[in-house]
Amino acid sequence: MLDFIRTIITEDLAAGRNGGRVATRFPPEPNGYLHIGHAKSICLNFGVAQEFGGTCNLRFDDTNPTKEDVEYVESIEEDVRWLGFEWAGLHFASDYFEQLYQFGEYLITKGLAYVDSQTADEIRRNRGTLTEPGVESPFRGRPADENLDLFRRMRAGEFADGAHVLRAKIDMASPNMNMRDPVLYRIRRAHHHRTGDRWCIYPMYDMAHPPSDALEHITHSLCTLEFEDHRPLYDWLVETLPVPSRPRQIEFARLNLSYTVMSKRRFLELVEEGHVSGWDDPRMPTIVGMRRRGYTPEAIRAFCDRIGVAKRENIVDVALLEHAVREDLNLRAQRVMGVLRPLKVVITNYPQGETEELDVVNNPEDPAAGTRKVPFSREIYIEHDDFREDPPKKFFRLAPGREVRLRCGYFITCTDLVKDPATGEVTELRCTYDPATRGGDAPDGRKVKATLHWVSAAHAVNAEVRLYDRLFTVEEPGRVEDFRTVLNPASLEIIADAKVEPSAARAPVGTRFQFERIGYFAVDKDSAPGAPVFNRTVTLKDSWAKIENKR
Ligand code: ATP
Ligand code: MG
Repeated sequence: MLDFIRTIITEDLAAGRNGGRVATRFPPEPNGYLHIGHAKSICLNFGVAQEFGGTCNLRFDDTNPTKEDVEYVESIEEDVRWLGFEWAGLHFASDYFEQLYQFGEYLITKGLAYVDSQTADEIRRNRGTLTEPGVESPFRGRPADENLDLFRRMRAGEFADGAHVLRAKIDMASPNMNMRDPVLYRIRRAHHHRTGDRWCIYPMYDMAHPPSDALEHITHSLCTLEFEDHRPLYDWLVETLPVPSRPRQIEFARLNLSYTVMSKRRFLELVEEGHVSGWDDPRMPTIVGMRRRGYTPEAIRAFCDRIGVAKRENIVDVALLEHAVREDLNLRAQRVMGVLRPLKVVITNYPQGETEELDVVNNPEDPAAGTRKVPFSREIYIEHDDFREDPPKKFFRLAPGREVRLRCGYFITCTDLVKDPATGEVTELRCTYDPATRGGDAPDGRKVKATLHWVSAAHAVNAEVRLYDRLFTVEEPGRVEDFRTVLNPASLEIIADAKVEPSAARAPVGTRFQFERIGYFAVDKDSAPGAPVFNRTVTLKDSWAKIENKR
């Protein structure tokens, strides 16, 4: 079934509107890194263009010089490409500054804009309220030539910041506050990352966006619901200005995700106050953060497909995003063995000093991924949690006297244990192995109830493993007055001395693995040769599948 936006586009095409063209754009402001909410908008804009044989532009909405930076421009380009999309045209609102300025003059000469010399406070006060009309500015009646002169001198830098603004002359009594003579231009002496000090007046978003769309011949200007009330102004501008096309704005609900905030401003605070290590901290739902954590573009696109677009705001369960990541990684991630909390096992009847190589399947979901050799020897590590001295009823893993299978290896039986005399903690196990069970099956057909992952001690590589949990403890941190009070103190746990098999330790940064029985992990950029660092991308346990089954 088509969503409401695709339905509109289908109808427009059927009616022959826009000459049968579909052109969209993704218009980020380069004032921060992109997040999963932007991914929704990217997948929608680029996706629609692809599906309808159209084009999608990347346009930077760089009209607010004090908060913007080239660092963000570059990261945004990289993120869009990483998500798998390529723009038809790369544009900047700042490329239109001269044209937009001319549009300002045009409105003045038509008697549709005036220079207001009230203070910002007066303008705010005189806007009225939702129940009361606004009060017209005493400068509203300025003749066109005087407005033109003032606007030119604003541009020339003759006035201080805030001395004047250019406003559209629409209707101070409009029930829509955005139509009460909206401000179009303001004086702001700020260095712009692209235009330098060429301009000291800058167009407001509402002034820049509609004509930019029209100049690029955008047919469908898709944006989030907060712009719904701006649509009459959008339409007023594209109808009033001498622009070459008449784009249509359509609003959809923004993505909200449980257990996270979703705004560049909040993310900037998290970064600047040091609650996270940076924009690419793997706990951040930024594109760079998710990439570093090991999420794939395919998973993010599948997630965006799955949530769809609608008119009503809601909160999407983050478990659904994790589910999409798991589904994708299950198909593509190579399996390796890694032990997070190692417990040494000495196999007493295995020949001293000997090593053999066992064949292990790389990915049961993908036969083409083949097999690899994993070294096995007399001393191995298993997961501490996989052993209990006094196993409770349903614990089927290793315990004194019990036999289990080592994955792709042998059956072993626990014969003895070594304890720390001071703490009583089990520090080492003694086991025997059955040479006839090589590969994991007993020729006499006897069964074991558990299969454990393991790493040969002599071959294991020490690894740092970073386990991530939700950044916030409540479902809607955005609703809490101070989000700092609901930060999850346990959102990062570092395991300094995990043990991984050699093949995992050699992988380049960004490689994604499934650590058998534990979860998905990605090689972090903090890795050094011989000292890999892994980020836990997601656990194996699928809470979303559970939620769905319950329904
Ligand atoms: P933020 O609130 O995080 O600062 P923004 O809307 O100010 O986001 P922009 O750079 O202006 O960020 O956004 C670029 C595009 O992405 C806009 O069209 C905007 O509507 C869309 N977008 C932003 N956040 C979301 C979201 N959570 N869900 C869907 N689309 C979004
Ligand atoms: Mg914005």
